[in-house]
Amino acid sequence: MTESEEHHRLVVAGTGIAGLTAAIYAGRSNNDPLVLEGDEPGGQLTLTSEVENYPGFPEGISGPDLINEMKAQAEQFGAELRHGIVERVDDGERPFRVELSNGDTLTCDAFIAASGASARTLGIPGEDDLMGYGVSTCATCDGAFFRGEDMLVVGGGDAACEEAHFLTKFADTVYLAHRREKFRAEDYWIEKVQKKVDEGEIEILRNTELLEIHGSAEAGVDHVTLARNDAGYPSENLDSPGTERVEMDVGAVFVAIGHTPNTGYLADTGVELDETGYIQTQGGKGGNQTATGVPGLFGAGDVVDYHYQQAVTAAGMGCKAAIDADGYLEDLADAEASAESEAQAEADD
Ligand code: NAP
Repeated sequence: MTESEEHHRLVVAGTGIAGLTAAIYAGRSNNDPLVLEGDEPGGQLTLTSEVENYPGFPEGISGPDLINEMKAQAEQFGAELRHGIVERVDDGERPFRVELSNGDTLTCDAFIAASGASARTLGIPGEDDLMGYGVSTCATCDGAFFRGEDMLVVGGGDAACEEAHFLTKFADTVYLAHRREKFRAEDYWIEKVQKKVDEGEIEILRNTELLEIHGSAEAGVDHVTLARNDAGYPSENLDSPGTERVEMDVGAVFVAIGHTPNTGYLADTGVELDETGYIQTQGGKGGNQTATGVPGLFGAGDVVDYHYQQAVTAAGMGCKAAIDADGYLEDLADAEASAESEAQAEADD
């Protein structure tokens, strides 16, 4: 660490539910957390209109309101929130060095990775060029721009069903395209979508995949090319006689096919990542469940959890990470104090 480098006891990467819960607990433990807010401030929840399953809010609460309340709560306990995108963490020396995309470098004794996950895209022609011009990964953010249009939602999980349901507020018809017969979504969302199907507001396209999006930045999305095959996964069997190509006029496309964890900045560390980039933590029943293979580096929320991915489970993991980091920092302080007293004793001899 150079003298000019800013040092923090604890850095938390991410201001989603996991990062902010960690910040609240770490602030209350006098660990003065610096909380770095990346490109998607507030995380996935800020893209959600109404959160109806977060305990304590029987009437529901909007995602942005919940995040803002948590930020205020974290700051009240001494957390400092600042914009900063972590580019790299160097665990080769202690304290850790944290390099930010603006060129700044910080050091810290402990680090909590709570940088969440970003929306996945399909990688098909037209998708990148029209992103922001009729193609979106967030219905809550962009749905209202396409009032009165026919809209296509791609995906078969809770997010796709929730987005299709939400878009019925604005769309003429919402088409929900899923690549196979059976939906992955919970019964709750399947029933809600079915109600909208019965009311003529949603049309489900099973065994259907999006191949191409046509349009221009000036005029937006004009139409899409879809493939359909009763056996499912039509893009894997494009030349089969059972696969039919369909052109369909729609004014907007919403891609809701899951997320990829934001953990690229840990690639050079000793933290173990799985093949899709999720952090492997210790888990189990006792303490240190959020510990990674690198002592002092912890993981919480959607960077770890590919299964539950709920606001309340992210909050629970953020809490655990802050408690685990506090234990680590206390042990570190004890070790430093005893090293100092040993050195003092040697000097006195
Ligand atoms: P998900 O459950 O992983 O579902 C992704 C969907 O996209 C799947 O149906 C998948 O198809 C499809 N898909 C993936 N790659 C595709 C591709 N290349 N082409 C076409 N389709 C593709 O993701 P999610 O819906 O974002 O949900 C993630 C987590 O958040 C879940 O745990 C969910 O419960 C939670 N969530 C909850 C709520 C809520 O309760 N309010 C809302 C949103 C999300 P296959 O099924 O064939 O794999």
